[in-house]
Order: sequence, then structure tokens, then C-alpha cells
Amino acid sequence: MRGELKWIAWETTPRCNLSCVHCRSSSTMHLPEVMDTKQALSVLDKIGDFCSPVVVLSGGEPLLRKDIFKLAQYGTDKGFRMCMATNGTLINNEHCEKMIETGIKMVSLSLDGSTAEIHDNFRNHKGAFSGVLRGIEFLKKHGIPFLINSSFTKRNQQDIENTYKLAKELGATAWYMFMIVPTGRGEDVMSELIDTKDYDEILRWHYRLEQQENEILVRPTCAPHYYRIYIEEAMKEGNSAKRRNLTFSTGANKGCVAGQTICLIRSDGEVLPCSYFPVSGGNIFKQSMEEIWNSKLFLEMRDIEGYKGKCGVCEYRGVCGGCRARAYAVTGDYLDPEPFCDYEPGHLKEKNR
Ligand code: SF4
Ligand code: SF4
Repeated sequence: MRGELKWIAWETTPRCNLSCVHCRSSSTMHLPEVMDTKQALSVLDKIGDFCSPVVVLSGGEPLLRKDIFKLAQYGTDKGFRMCMATNGTLINNEHCEKMIETGIKMVSLSLDGSTAEIHDNFRNHKGAFSGVLRGIEFLKKHGIPFLINSSFTKRNQQDIENTYKLAKELGATAWYMFMIVPTGRGEDVMSELIDTKDYDEILRWHYRLEQQENEILVRPTCAPHYYRIYIEEAMKEGNSAKRRNLTFSTGANKGCVAGQTICLIRSDGEVLPCSYFPVSGGNIFKQSMEEIWNSKLFLEMRDIEGYKGKCGVCEYRGVCGGCRARAYAVTGDYLDPEPFCDYEPGHLKEKNR
């Protein structure tokens, strides 16, 4: 599969003013900046030599970079659809004005609970909840569209429905539910991961939610077997299930899209198949984007026939494929089966009978 790169998350800084328990990049305020403005602009040049994607200015916390809006403007001028992913706590009027001026199309924020107690506990920072709500008020005042990403583990899984309701009340364009993928500091939360049975039930709850939700866009992020569950549930209902297109989605209506339509560029230039995948296909400061996109790692990510075990023979592998990062975190082999799916592919069921 050739794969078209449509969506890039770019870690513009490793620095962050929060230190969340599940952070994929283990960011803190104490890390040094690794890219100066000239180097950062060269990253956008390298991207532009290969494709014209959605580029999400991410971090760490991107608003800690003094030149962040210069980068936004440069990307917009190149024809990229520039977005920003922020923890929301630093947003002020000036930032909003700059976002509009430099063509930021969408801001994504994290909200991991419906109360200060739950969100602050998850974000490891007292005041994070009020900070993100304040950030949202600024965005609304300036008419800047935003979406809300919510991450869940055992510690906040009871609050999933309330968090969705709050995201809707706040006026988000979309609410994306995400079950933590262990990587970076996230490895410590391995024992906190929602277990397979609950995971399945939550995805079936989400299916029902998606069917009756008409205002806010909803979709679980990085829960590839949702696509299997979606088909199973839709078939039970005689295939009448509705589906809506997502704004600023990752470019493919399927489960795992790591290295297929998306990638992450880390602040040190290493290019990973997705934000939670700690293996690099190459370094953008040393190679072209095209070379990296066609590296062995990225080609393997796109070759679903090469997936091992049940994911390799599953009738849903084309729409699902399992989470390659979770497989890597659990066994050390990213081609191994998705560890949080308990589905047994049809013909294996026959064989084991
Ligand atoms: S490997 Fe795929 S499903 Fe897993 S975190 Fe990355 S993009 Fe998401
Ligand atoms: S076995 Fe793998 S490909 Fe099949 S539904 Fe489960 S995670 Fe997806």
C-alpha cells in the first residue's frame, strides 16, 4: 500500500507546563528547547516537498514556543491546514487573535473528566480543569472552533459519559474518546488500563451514542476494533447505522491509520508512525519526508497482510488492523495481534470447533 500522508502531528516543543500521568512524550518545563526557529521552518519545508497535509502544532505545550505563530503562518502560506493541540491552560486573548491572523483552523484541547477533581488528578496539576475551561471561553469569545480529546484509564472510566456531556455543553465541534496507549510515562499506567471486557462494553456504548448524536461529532480515537464492533452492531440492526464525516480527522475512515495516512514528527526530528509509537522511520533533519514515508517501518505498517496472529487473518483487518502501538508496548513486536481485542476471527472459530 502506497499510503497518502494526510495528517501530521508535530511536536514543536518537548516542554510543557503540566506533567500528566499518561503523557506520551514525558514532557516537563525542565527540558531544553531542541529546535530553533530556522530548524522548525525547515521541517515545514521538508513536509511541503512531499505533501500538503493537515499539520497539528503540538507538544509538549506549543504555546510555550515564542515563535509558534510564525510557524503557523509559514505553514498556512504553504497551503497546509494548520491546527493546534494545546492543554488549554495558557490560552489568552492575544493567542486567539494570533490564531485567527495566522490561519489556525481548529484547536484541540484535552478534557479528561467532568469535574476539577477528576481532570486535575489525571493531569497531575491542580487548576488544570479551570485552566482549560478558561481557555475554551477565550476560544468561544473569538469564534475559534475547538474539539475535545478525552483520555481514559481505570481511574476515570466511570466519568466517560459525563465528560462527553460536558464537551457537548461547552460547544465543542467534536468529542474524541481515547483509551490510553502505554508509551513514554504512560508505561507506568499499564496496570491502570481499562480491561478488555470493559473496553468492549464502552465501545458498544459509544456505538449507541453515535447513532443518536446529531450535534457534536463523536468517534473513539485509536480504538481500531471499534470498526469491527460498529459493523457487528450495524448488522444486528439490519445495516441501517448512520455515519458522519469527521472534521479534521486523520484522513481514513478505518481503525489504525499509523503510518498509513498519519505520522508524528518529534521535536528532535524523528518521524514515528503515530504519536504513541516509540519507533522511528527516520529523521527529518537528515532525510527527506518521502524517504521516511517509504522506510521499512512505514511500509510494514501499511502492509496489513504482514500482521501476525489473529490480526493477520481477521476478516476485519482492512477496517481495523488492531493498534500497532499497543502490540509493541505489550510484546515488543508491533506486528503482533492487538492485545485489547478479544475477537476470534471467523475461520479460527471454525478451526477450533
Ligand atoms: S498504532 Fe494506530 S491505533 Fe495505535 S495509537 Fe497509533 S494510530 Fe492509534
Ligand atoms: S483480531 Fe485484530 S484485526 Fe480483528 S477485530 Fe481484533 S484487533 Fe481488529
